[in-house]
Amino acid sequence: MSTPDCLFCRIVAGEIPATVVRETPTTLAFRDISPKAPVHVLVIPKEHYADVATLGQGDPALAGEVLATAAAVAEDEGLLGDGFRLMFNTGAYGGQEVFHAHAHLLGGAPLGPMLA
Ligand code: ADP
Repeated sequence: MSTPDCLFCRIVAGEIPATVVRETPTTLAFRDISPKAPVHVLVIPKEHYADVATLGQGDPALAGEVLATAAAVAEDEGLLGDGFRLMFNTGAYGGQEVFHAHAHLLGGAPLGPMLA
């Protein structure tokens, strides 16, 4: 189900442009508008879940499809050899700003320690 006021639901609907790098029937991967690494792709379920906790508990198979899409993008972007980071910011303490579950796929350079 889509949520009209949700930015990422609007990207899924094609109402807001995005640079899509991979699409499956249930997931979408597109470049982050403000990249924090040479490769910075967001991977989302097309269906609206507010965060990874509700996604993981509500539809574990779909959560797995998000991971599979992230892995395919990592391969396409040449990240499998040197490695990459995959993370879900969740809630206020996690720094989440867009409340549609999304994985940040970051790579293409050494990323340093996660908590500075
Ligand atoms: P944070 O901004 O702290 O990383 P989130 O984990 O919620 O919070 O991530 C939201 C991400 O969505 C940000 O990295 C931001 O740059 C990205 N973003 C916001 N608007 C767009 C857009 N229109 N297209 C692509 N990425 C976007």
